[in-house]
Amino acid sequence: YHPGGNNMSEFFQVLTPQEAWQRLELHISDIGRTETVSAQDTLGRVTAMDILSPEDLPPFPRSAMDGYAVRAEDTHGASEGLPAYVQLVGEVPMGRPTRLRISPEQAALIHTGGVVPRGANAVVMVENTRRVDDFTIELTRSVAQGENVVQPGEDIRHREMLLAKGHRVRPQDIGGLLALGISEVTVFQKPIVAIISTGDELVHPEAKLSQGQVRDINTYTSLALTIEAGGIPLSIGIIPDNYKALREAAQQSLEKADAVVISAGSSVSTRDLTADVINSLGKPGVLVHGVSLKPGKPTIIALANNKPMFGLAGNPVSAMITYDLFVGPAVNRLGGSTGMPIRQEVIAQLTRSIPSATGREDYVAVKLLQKDGETWAEPVFGKSNLIFTLVRADGLARIPLDKEGIEMGEAVVVRVF
Ligand code: AMP
Ligand code: MG
Repeated sequence: YHPGGNNMSEFFQVLTPQEAWQRLELHISDIGRTETVSAQDTLGRVTAMDILSPEDLPPFPRSAMDGYAVRAEDTHGASEGLPAYVQLVGEVPMGRPTRLRISPEQAALIHTGGVVPRGANAVVMVENTRRVDDFTIELTRSVAQGENVVQPGEDIRHREMLLAKGHRVRPQDIGGLLALGISEVTVFQKPIVAIISTGDELVHPEAKLSQGQVRDINTYTSLALTIEAGGIPLSIGIIPDNYKALREAAQQSLEKADAVVISAGSSVSTRDLTADVINSLGKPGVLVHGVSLKPGKPTIIALANNKPMFGLAGNPVSAMITYDLFVGPAVNRLGGSTGMPIRQEVIAQLTRSIPSATGREDYVAVKLLQKDGETWAEPVFGKSNLIFTLVRADGLARIPLDKEGIEMGEAVVVRVF
């Protein structure tokens, strides 16, 4: 019996999580809006154009060691037993050009980062030298041409690709930009994600609860996940289980945002309105309704006015997991990123067996432990749909579609929070 008279087979034209993502993926590209920001402020931002190196780095031949700049040919055959001798002609100053010029059988004292003077083509490490007197250096080891010298352009060449379009900037990238004097970068604007929570039982977190009410969790977990995925959350708030109210909120969201997330109301019953509301807002409407996923089966993935819309199951654990699997990657794409996914995955061994049905991808909250240099995943005890199973976990272990559970000691992929 079903209250709305709907037939279950109509509802669950269930796709695998991968198929579900592929249906949406076709339709999403970057939002196109860009802005110019200071290179120092680009952490986590996505480059909106290819950035090429404006010069060679280093721009001059630079010593990689403390020692003596020499002509490699003058050191050939030098050893502890049969040293070579060169004449000291000066010291290369740090941070300034040098006028020194090294002729045959001459050397200059040089420090790490110093300009290798003209005539010299290698540096002998100070450990392989002895000062005989004020003017004479004994070399106890030979060096090849270029040894202990960083050549101009060896780090990066003029016009070489520094960061490709669609790259999410990391700390080392900021170092690379500033090493080349690039102080401003054009990045994609962050996509705006509207977040709606529906349910007559929901109240604002600061409210004193009456029996039957629950505090709204999904608005806030979705806000935080949006920030993690590189988006700007736009909180619409709690909307009652009412077609007109939900349609109004969804329509306004669609005007203001690049994507819309509606939590709860995604399964099939007369009280679950999300699919109807989405279908009323634009073509093609609902692309996916039902995913072979636990938790998260009643997920809706849709497109209206060329913007992705999501209906997440209301349970806070389901909502978080399905946000993470579908909304996060979509926000990443809208933000222009073409590289690494947001969520890191590690391989771990299970500390105990977990059953699962085949034909369904399961996510199980786990704690990660290190034992004898190996990573283990310990399933968090308790009902899987309670928010504190996630609070107590370090990540989610994936039990693949084709597996009928995983045995103790078997390897699993864990998506790390
Ligand atoms: P539904 O998808 O509407 O059937 O909701 C499933 C469960 O999740 C119900 O117990 C709801 O009360 C709960 N729920 C729905 N939305 C939220 C929310 N925003 N915060 C916390 N719990 C919620
Ligand atoms: Mg509900």
